[in-house]
Amino acid sequence: MARKPKIHVIGTGGTISGAGDTATAGAYQSGAVEAAQLIAAVDGLDRLADVSAETIFATGSENLGPVQWRQLARRIEEVCASNDVDGVVVTHGTDTLEEAAFYLDLVCRANKPVALTAAMRPATALSADGPANLFQAALSISSPHFQGGGVFVVMNTQVIAGWQAIKTSSVALDSFCAYPGGSVARVVGESLMMIGGRQSSPLAGRFHGVLEKDEELPVVDIVALRGGCGDRPLSNANTNDCKGLVIAGFGSGTMPDTLAAEAADMARSGTVVVVSSRVGRVMVSAHSTSTRLDDGVIPSGCLNPQKSAVLLSLALADGLDAAEIAGLFQLFSASSQ
Ligand code: GLU
Repeated sequence: MARKPKIHVIGTGGTISGAGDTATAGAYQSGAVEAAQLIAAVDGLDRLADVSAETIFATGSENLGPVQWRQLARRIEEVCASNDVDGVVVTHGTDTLEEAAFYLDLVCRANKPVALTAAMRPATALSADGPANLFQAALSISSPHFQGGGVFVVMNTQVIAGWQAIKTSSVALDSFCAYPGGSVARVVGESLMMIGGRQSSPLAGRFHGVLEKDEELPVVDIVALRGGCGDRPLSNANTNDCKGLVIAGFGSGTMPDTLAAEAADMARSGTVVVVSSRVGRVMVSAHSTSTRLDDGVIPSGCLNPQKSAVLLSLALADGLDAAEIAGLFQLFSASSQ
């Protein structure tokens, strides 16, 4: 790109836009700082790119979900369709960043790069990490390496494929990492070191059609297990309006025998059931879980419960049946070849 890149920043709230009473306060309000103010606080950004900004939400990401993700995705596609923009940075809360990034990967077909970034410390904190993360996000998507498009999470010098981003700590600056792969690139000062790694998910853009519809996504609940839970989590679950269910099982997708039997019953009666795990780095395969593929219960592969729920609700919205949905999750699993 011979000219200065043009980057559009979309603010959605989160700690990156949070303000506390003092620079050391633990409490702060998410979404208190507009995107335009955020970019004004980033030294060197104007040398790097021509940056425009808008704020579409000003809240913690715990308040965002499929309705807001669709609004965000539509706006990203609209902005990317303009010749005046070379890439989009989304500022976001960290708490549901992994779901938002996975959703955007699955629905967006923009041919320009999108980087989600966030912060672990509010904008008013001593050593706030937001400005550096914002700079690194803009730097990354200005690079020729990312001109084909794709959804990324850029945090703490790491450029991570959006579908692989996981939050691993409630407080650490290096909370985000890539799983199951490694980072795509690392930001070093004003340069990028390309490392490798798969950039888009095996289903990138597969569910673009949901952006044309206004219906809400089907409800998918997550049931988390604890040691000694027996079959209580499923027998107590109110699954009346629930088209799909994700079980956050133990380890590699194990669960008490009685609960496995109940999961199989639910799958037979028409609820699409996926088994993931409550561990941080999930790998659940057909031979590791306590349930059986023959019973119609689907292993989540490397997708954690929250990402499994995103994929399952999009697949249900698309009208896919359990066998077709199993085929999608298989793309996130180890293959025997
Ligand atoms: N709960 C807030 C959010 O996700 C703050 C967490 C954060 O951004 O780090 O927006």
